[in-house]
Amino acid sequence: MTDPIVRFQDVHKSFGDVNVLKGINLDIKPAEKVAIIGPSGSGKTTIIRMLMTLEEPSSGDIIVDGKNLWKMEKNGHMVKANEKHLREVRGDIGMVFQHFNLFPHMTILENCMTAPIHVKKESKEEVRDRSIQMLERVGLGEKLDNYPSQLSGGQKQRVAMARALVMRPKIMLFDEVTSALDPELVGEVLEVIRDLAKHEDMAMVLVTHEMDFALDIADKVLFLDEGVIAEQGTASEVIEHSENERLQGFLRRFR
Ligand code: ADP
Repeated sequence: MTDPIVRFQDVHKSFGDVNVLKGINLDIKPAEKVAIIGPSGSGKTTIIRMLMTLEEPSSGDIIVDGKNLWKMEKNGHMVKANEKHLREVRGDIGMVFQHFNLFPHMTILENCMTAPIHVKKESKEEVRDRSIQMLERVGLGEKLDNYPSQLSGGQKQRVAMARALVMRPKIMLFDEVTSALDPELVGEVLEVIRDLAKHEDMAMVLVTHEMDFALDIADKVLFLDEGVIAEQGTASEVIEHSENERLQGFLRRFR
């Protein structure tokens, strides 16, 4: 058995007295593609944010690539990994958000190059070559010197993906990356993710409302409902064959 690249062990999260996550247990294997579906407010983004170390669990363990991000001691205290360790883990994780968060004053090539050069201290030449390669990969090889304001929303989202890929992450997180796009731009972004899912051996975690897309690319689908994983299995088991009534009700709204 391969060790999981991500493990959540009995993870709880409350904001004030609102219990958002109520005992999440989750293993993601190194090349696995996992889709998280569920109603708005069910805690999907909170899971992603905890993986990015942007949010602290109230209790439970989160382990990424064998390293504890958060560990609950016997007395119930949560212990966070040290900064060096957190930096290593963050370097293993690429994230694409709903809003692209590109730097407006940099060309798209510069947007891709900045983190590897300044955070990872890699050589400029190598990063430049890799950035061009990734921008070509997402179909933007002709736009290297354009600024974000000159691109469509779908193109900006593809830059955001190239920028994450240049860091060579072991895990890519996609949080509703098509939900801020005009409908006619959704397809081109899904196509790039589909291509990555089929050809790259990194783990991918996708929060999505695109059920046909999840059915096509996900090895595993989790249905999050009221803070628990209410259903999980292969994409077909969860999206096409589950008898869970709340899941069926949810799916009727999206298919
Ligand atoms: P989803 O991604 O499934 O829509 P979220 O993880 O964004 O759900 O949010 C789950 C719940 O947690 C929501 O009720 C939301 O209002 C609440 N929540 C999320 N972040 C915070 C925060 N920083 N402070 C207070 N409540 C929050």
